[in-house]
Amino acid sequence: MTNTWILTTNEHVANLVEAAAAIGGATTVIAVAPSAPSIAGVDRIIHVPLAEGVPAEAYASAVAGLLAEAGSDVILAANRPAERSFAGAAAAALTLPVIVGATSVSASGAEVARYGGLTTETVSFSGAVLVLEGGAPAEAGGPAAETHEATPMAVSVVSVQPATSGPANLAAARRIVACGRGFKAEEDLSIAQALADALGAEMACSRPLAEGTAWMTKDRYIGVSGMHVSPDIYVALGISGQVQHTSGMADTKIVVAVNTDANAPIFQIADYGIVGDIYEVVPALTAALS
Ligand SMILES: Cc1cc2nc3c(=O)[nH]c(=O)nc-3n(C[C@H](O)[C@H](O)[C@H](O)COP(=O)(O)OP(=O)(O)OC[C@H]3O[C@@H](n4cnc5c(N)ncnc54)[C@H](O)[C@@H]3O)c2cc1C
Repeated sequence: MTNTWILTTNEHVANLVEAAAAIGGATTVIAVAPSAPSIAGVDRIIHVPLAEGVPAEAYASAVAGLLAEAGSDVILAANRPAERSFAGAAAAALTLPVIVGATSVSASGAEVARYGGLTTETVSFSGAVLVLEGGAPAEAGGPAAETHEATPMAVSVVSVQPATSGPANLAAARRIVACGRGFKAEEDLSIAQALADALGAEMACSRPLAEGTAWMTKDRYIGVSGMHVSPDIYVALGISGQVQHTSGMADTKIVVAVNTDANAPIFQIADYGIVGDIYEVVPALTAALS
């Protein structure tokens, strides 16, 4: 019988509970959290209390110690920072491979998305640590948690600075103006912002503007490795329309694209396409809307 373990710091593990059910056998949750979580659909919950002022990562060796003692088969870690550190420590302690990006899991193998989802690999193993999306909060319930007091490694939080602006809520946005590498300088984004203001739209971008230039925050880039959105209107400005980008906005109702290159792939999915320079077209669109 397979022993499956779920490593988490909170209840957002619905995908992992589902994956564990597909694997079959017994499922144990190890939760490093201030209080014990309530998770239905598992056989056992071990709660490692998280001390105040200590990051959850400090418990990675304690989590690995529990797993090494038990001799685990399949370990599922939610794709979040602390859980990834648990996955690494567990893999080192048990000499197991770490597999990142699994989309489905069985007791002896997994489907793994590669190249931003362009291909799917089927891998087999006789034991592994898999990092996959935790998903929504699991249904509450399940067994009463057993407490396992553990000593954290020597690291503590010395101060916390809240972000000056809140995270973008693009998933709920009905209108989005997205900027790409057609913009030559950060200050030029103001012309896109003016259009967004006129439309009552949220600003978004392609990945290079968030991960390359950092002109926008990472919670604003759209695509296979960024946000998935489905607004009524998506205005793509200076975005070529590579599949890694368009897969994040394919459910948009109306796509408007402005690009100097008439052969840019974005025009293949655009409902309205303007072959032109964003520096001329965008101010003209804003003026027409104001
Ligand atoms: C594994 C992997 C995952 C990835 N995930 C993502 C992801 O989630 N999201 C994402 O966005 N990308 C992702 N990428 C990157 C993706 O492949 C593209 O490189 C990226 O989307 C291109 O961004 P862009 O369209 O802004 O830039 P470019 O492809 O450089 O396009 C710029 C466009 O601007 C046009 N242009 C230039 N000047 C002007 C002007 N003055 N006026 C009008 N148009 C102009 C050009 O004709 C061109 O079409 C990923 C890549 C990999 C390998």
